[in-house]
Amino acid sequence: MSDTPDAIIIGTGVIGTATAFELAKAGWKTLSLDRNTQVGHGSTAGSCAIIRMHYSTLDGTAFAWEGYHYWRDWAEYLGLPEGADIARFREVGCLVMKTEANGLLEKHMKYSAELGCPFEEWSPEKVVERLPIYSMDSYAPAKRMDDAEFGESNGRQVVGAVYWPKAGYVTDPALSAQNLAAAARLNGGAFRMGVEVTEILKEGGRVTGVKLADGEEIHAPVVINVAGPGSARVNEMAGVTGEMTIETRPLRQEVVHVPAPAGFDFETNGTIVSDSDIACYCRPEQGNHILVGSEDPECDAHQWVESDVDYPRDFTDQWTTQAMRYAQRVPSLGIPSRTRGVVDLYDASTDWIPIYDKSSLGGFFMACGTSGNQYKNAPIAGKMMAALVDYCTAGNDHDVTPLQFRLPYIDREIDVGFYSRKRPINAESSFSVLG
Ligand SMILES: Cc1cc2nc3c(=O)[nH]c(=O)nc-3n(C[C@H](O)[C@H](O)[C@H](O)COP(=O)(O)OP(=O)(O)OC[C@H]3O[C@@H](n4cnc5c(N)ncnc54)[C@H](O)[C@@H]3O)c2cc1C
Repeated sequence: MSDTPDAIIIGTGVIGTATAFELAKAGWKTLSLDRNTQVGHGSTAGSCAIIRMHYSTLDGTAFAWEGYHYWRDWAEYLGLPEGADIARFREVGCLVMKTEANGLLEKHMKYSAELGCPFEEWSPEKVVERLPIYSMDSYAPAKRMDDAEFGESNGRQVVGAVYWPKAGYVTDPALSAQNLAAAARLNGGAFRMGVEVTEILKEGGRVTGVKLADGEEIHAPVVINVAGPGSARVNEMAGVTGEMTIETRPLRQEVVHVPAPAGFDFETNGTIVSDSDIACYCRPEQGNHILVGSEDPECDAHQWVESDVDYPRDFTDQWTTQAMRYAQRVPSLGIPSRTRGVVDLYDASTDWIPIYDKSSLGGFFMACGTSGNQYKNAPIAGKMMAALVDYCTAGNDHDVTPLQFRLPYIDREIDVGFYSRKRPINAESSFSVLG
């Protein structure tokens, strides 16, 4: 960088790099900073990178349905030179079990129908036809492994499921952030890696830049906090948390990788499954593996951590609990004695809905609180953040007159105030990773 950037972006995860790309395309001279030495190696690298459309709110569904299209058109969206190594979207569909916990998906189907997002209702027989390794015995409510009734069916059957055929996953989430960084660079965006922001500089109620751990100061009129699970610390540095009704906090998660049962090619013929009857979600993984995450049932204590850098990285009983819960649905599942998978952090918000907003400090913005469910939305979140920065720097008061933002693919306007840091807690949320 020869001189002062127009905007500093803290964080080079998938949302930070998407924000950099969108701002750079719009003519902003951006500088992205990250304490890691490689782009995309925060929580983005640990993400399951599932691109699904069913959310508990109409706004959440609209955002995710819009988000899908960027992954579908990934090469075109990036505009990188021919032959660039780009992340791959596998459109394997997402099957969601109908349960009491999700109101038999009535609301989700209504929202998808309203938005023109395709879905199909499946009978239990149809589920087993697609996934012959599945048993449809019901186990709800989810239990801990040491519960005497763990593994005992409640005597009922899961009544059916809804299949969203356009859903899928991205095979290499860190690469997708690197793709966005490359696209940002093509548009003039700059990146500095291995630098930690330790102070937000301000003067007269406005942000003036950042200070790095080695004491270097970088000045800019706009600073955006896209620090993932480090977002709360950065917001505290900026002194903007006092007026926020929604807080963000790092939450530890374990994701299980197990081999698919012999004789079934889950990698080719499997699908994503969200199964609140056993409180697990899963997706195919390379090498005919299945990746199993938790849907945060009430019986599991949340593993909040104090530091987003220094937290326990080893698997615990939680790994075995998740594997055993999934084995209820797939009785032939072998659970290896060697634990494999991912330990990483969500940046959980109070209502599990993200914050995409300005702050009480002029020029200081935040895209955070992504609560384990915003990977899929990164490109559209980046576009919306760029529009928000433009709107606010043009003198508009987003708190008083919130930006109305058009989702270009699905041609629908949303009120960006939905994502306000000062919103009332959204009672419609699932208060879980499902958003
Ligand atoms: C286990 C797991 C599974 C998930 N599965 C899904 C899924 O299937 N689908 C989905 O949509 N979402 C999923 N998510 C959520 C998704 O991964 C995140 O919402 C998304 O990756 C967040 O991207 P980000 O750019 O905001 O943050 P991150 O990728 O966390 O990037 C933040 C960056 O900021 C840097 N940073 C922090 N503080 C500082 C500082 N002070 N100075 C300099 N740099 C700093 C960090 O080093 C990091 O690189 C999952 C998350 C996890 C943890």
